[in-house]
Amino acid sequence: MIYTNLFEKKHISKLCYGTLSLSNLQNSDTDENKIKLLNYAYEKGINFFDTAELYDNYNILKKFIKDKDRDTLIIASKSYAYDKKTADYSINKALKELDTDYLDVFMLHEQDNGNNFIGHYEAVERFMKYKQDGIIKHFGISTHRVEAVKDSIKFNEIELVFPLLNMMGIGIQDGTISDMLEAVKIAKLNNKFILAMKIYGGGHLITNTKKAFDFVNNISEVDSIAVGMSTIEEIDANICYLENNELNDNLKNKLKNQKRTLVIEEWCVGCGKCAIKCKQNALQIVNGKCKVDMSKCVLCSYCAGECADFYIKIV
Ligand code: SF4
Ligand code: SF4
Repeated sequence: MIYTNLFEKKHISKLCYGTLSLSNLQNSDTDENKIKLLNYAYEKGINFFDTAELYDNYNILKKFIKDKDRDTLIIASKSYAYDKKTADYSINKALKELDTDYLDVFMLHEQDNGNNFIGHYEAVERFMKYKQDGIIKHFGISTHRVEAVKDSIKFNEIELVFPLLNMMGIGIQDGTISDMLEAVKIAKLNNKFILAMKIYGGGHLITNTKKAFDFVNNISEVDSIAVGMSTIEEIDANICYLENNELNDNLKNKLKNQKRTLVIEEWCVGCGKCAIKCKQNALQIVNGKCKVDMSKCVLCSYCAGECADFYIKIV
């Protein structure tokens, strides 16, 4: 495993386990199997785990954490808190449901820009109080937008930026991958910890994972890379990519044969843009939501770029 530092805290795995892939939103496997995956990752040296209030999987992480030395783990979470009350709710819920005394990182989820951040400032002030009390160790934002990454430098409270970063720029809501790289450079020059997300473009780059991983891993400003993983093989492959090792044939075959599906998140507003793009006629708007017919879908990913809100994923 390759390790990095989160400011004063040393020995943080450069590969962060993004646990959206273990939430019921994307994964219907048993809790027991999900915990086995977390334990496997930990045994392989991964000690950085990202979750969110939205993922509703604190219960799984709690069972994973309970027999570990807490200080060896980095647990990050995030919420949409916007005032004192919602900030208190988010922190108390995370502490209680994870059964921990502190959170290594807490973030505001999906920030758009500096104005959006100011709009959440009552919550930010509350988070700063939790930080003073040692309950949050570091504070940050997650975002799919270039503007938010650029604006992060205006706020000393933001120590960590969690931007969407992949070689095709899939899912970036307000610019290209070049724009995002420039913003990340500016944020890094201002001493922000950069945790990259969606490096496989929500599953749409799975036919070229090595290239997609290397693209992000070679960005010097990136401190850590969050990857959603839902099988042992995916964990092994990402560790191989990080350590620049070749995948053996057995692993390659298992990954090739892994069953994939298209998921449209429940927040879809039924605009229909993705359905127009799909030449297989696999997408239809039913009762104001997009539905996929997997007997027609060839997982080509052409629809993904049409959804500005990044609601279409291959898992
Ligand atoms: S992945 Fe391709 S085939 Fe499947 S719904 Fe999207 S555009 Fe259609
Ligand atoms: S483009 Fe996005 S919001 Fe529009 S119908 Fe498709 S999935 Fe839903």
